[in-house]
Amino acid sequence: MKEPIKIILDPEELPKQWYNMLSDTPAPFPPYLHPGTKEPITDPSFLMALFPNECVKQEVSPERYIDIPEDIREAYYRIGRPSPLYRAKRLEEALKTPAKIFLKREDLSPPGSHKPNTAIAQAYYAKKEGIERLTTETGAGQWGSALAYSCALMGLGCKVFMVRISYQQKPYRKYLMSIYGADIYPSPSDQTDFGKKLMAKDKNHPGSLGIAISEAVEAAMKDDGAKYTLGSVLNHVILHQTVVGQELIKQFEKINLVPDILIGCVGGGSNFSGFAFPYAGKKLRGELDKDLKIITVEASACPHITEGEYKYDYGDTAMTAPLAKMYTLGHDFVPPPIHAGGLRYHGMSPMVSLLVKEGVFEPRAYPQEQIFASAKLLAETEGLVTAPETAHALHATILEAKKCKETGEAKVICYNHSGHGMFDLEGYKEILKLPI
Ligand SMILES: *Cc1c(COP(=O)(O)O)cnc(C)c1O
Repeated sequence: MKEPIKIILDPEELPKQWYNMLSDTPAPFPPYLHPGTKEPITDPSFLMALFPNECVKQEVSPERYIDIPEDIREAYYRIGRPSPLYRAKRLEEALKTPAKIFLKREDLSPPGSHKPNTAIAQAYYAKKEGIERLTTETGAGQWGSALAYSCALMGLGCKVFMVRISYQQKPYRKYLMSIYGADIYPSPSDQTDFGKKLMAKDKNHPGSLGIAISEAVEAAMKDDGAKYTLGSVLNHVILHQTVVGQELIKQFEKINLVPDILIGCVGGGSNFSGFAFPYAGKKLRGELDKDLKIITVEASACPHITEGEYKYDYGDTAMTAPLAKMYTLGHDFVPPPIHAGGLRYHGMSPMVSLLVKEGVFEPRAYPQEQIFASAKLLAETEGLVTAPETAHALHATILEAKKCKETGEAKVICYNHSGHGMFDLEGYKEILKLPI
């Protein structure tokens, strides 16, 4: 091989620390507000009633680097970390572009996405603190299956509130969660007061992520042995994901390249952040000698950054979760049912939002017909069937590579390949009108 197509790290090169973006923000991070008083939350006990204590400490920690406990590193190794950096040569050839296209392979974990990077950490801390069960919400089921997997790994119970329409229409991830031993309820459910209230109005309420969050929070608050976990949006979740970007830096160093463009899709912002923040930190600290462009990609049907407002909003529909300053479409926004279920959250990570506001990242949005066409091209050239969420980042990558073809520039473009699409084949069939 003239040029490597797979850059693999040794097990001992698995990062020993996570990177904390809070230490490098160009403007102060706006505090969370209490949902009742709407005053800044200064007493951590409010959040500690909800989340594992260690996660709350990490949420507000000013330290630039936070040690990854050995047990978590071992679990990371078990899920396939360090994950390969992969050169998509055949895609480059098909596009006739001089650009070098790289994928960071987060699709290789057992549940098939980046999400175990934080699910493992949250389950580990919960177990250590004597918690018996974790509750959570899930849309299409990617986060639910990652948490179910991690709870099985750590010996914890797991209660998942799954958006009812997905529960009915997307059974395979539901089966996967059940195989891992989780209890799954279609949301709205009869397990919570909020769920019962909505069910009384409409027995077949389709549900939404905001509603499922409200139910999972309520279920945790009423159960002494339980705490709640979130799969995206918050600082501690993003912190755990930075194992991805830390590996990425080492991998590019190995081949003596610095990326020109980094791209990630954004639902709540966690895979993008984990992938891009370590490099963004270098950029903000003036440690890069080239201009690095960092792009967020969302679904046109849920355009939180490109068309949302930057303001304080609730994280959930029942207005019981804290308020965060973020790009939002409103806590009662119910996005249309696109196949990229993971991109259908009304808000956006407050950290990603702050950095977009400060001009560090460039936001883009694309409709599903376009992203599926790009996904098909990747499958035909590289054999990889990508998640519809991930295909948004892929599509932006292809557009940038096409620009390079026009200008003749051999830019190094890398996107986060956040998950595989083996449970999303219906979407491919429907949108691409496959002749079968
Ligand atoms: C959940 C998910 C996303 C979106 O969530 P983020 O928190 O924005 O990363 C993207 N890709 C895949 C494969 C997912 O499972």
